[in-house]
Amino acid sequence: MYLKRLESVGFKSFAERIKVEFVPGVTAVVGPNGSGKSNITDAIRWVLGEQSAKSLRGSKMEDIIFQGSDSRKALNVAEVTLVLDNHDSKLPLDYAEISVTRRVYRSGDSEFYINKQSCRLKDIIDLFMDSGLGREAFSIISQGKVEEILSSKAEERRTIFEEAAGVLKYKQRKKKAEYK
Ligand code: ATP
Ligand code: MG
Repeated sequence: MYLKRLESVGFKSFAERIKVEFVPGVTAVVGPNGSGKSNITDAIRWVLGEQSAKSLRGSKMEDIIFQGSDSRKALNVAEVTLVLDNHDSKLPLDYAEISVTRRVYRSGDSEFYINKQSCRLKDIIDLFMDSGLGREAFSIISQGKVEEILSSKAEERRTIFEEAAGVLKYKQRKKKAEYK
């Protein structure tokens, strides 16, 4: 599995529709300060289910919608799509290519899609859980995360290892079953 493409419109500084193609191997994104490099990883984390506006460097979810510039009006909707290559069936869906889309309106309404079929946020989180790409996974290490991992409590560190080892899904299912 690998990330093939990111498409976005209205997400943070990306007012225009952007399409970023990735190929297997290493991709480096370079650019001046404030040009939107981190906004690309924010977009990826957002589609993967990030629910904390703060960790997307805003104060409320609306802050991720393009807020206008000197030459352009603000937009009312932000949308991001990730297209993943799934030839190795790492994601538990019987498709060689999987697209995941998240959309949010200024009104606060959200929409989620897997392969263009409307779904719930939970379906997206479940799809990526234990894939190594989940919202809480170690696949995106943001500025400051390294120190956080090193200094976090043993319990919290353990969650990181559990996701890495692929057992988190089963733990959460067990917990859910115990509540019933
Ligand atoms: P650095 O090299 O400093 O880490 P960077 O390339 O990672 O910079 P980002 O943090 O991705 O830059 O981009 C920040 C830019 O995104 C800022 O100019 C900010 O004004 C813009 N931005 C963030 N949210 C929005 C929004 N909702 N609407 C428009 N622009 C936004
Ligand atoms: Mg940055």
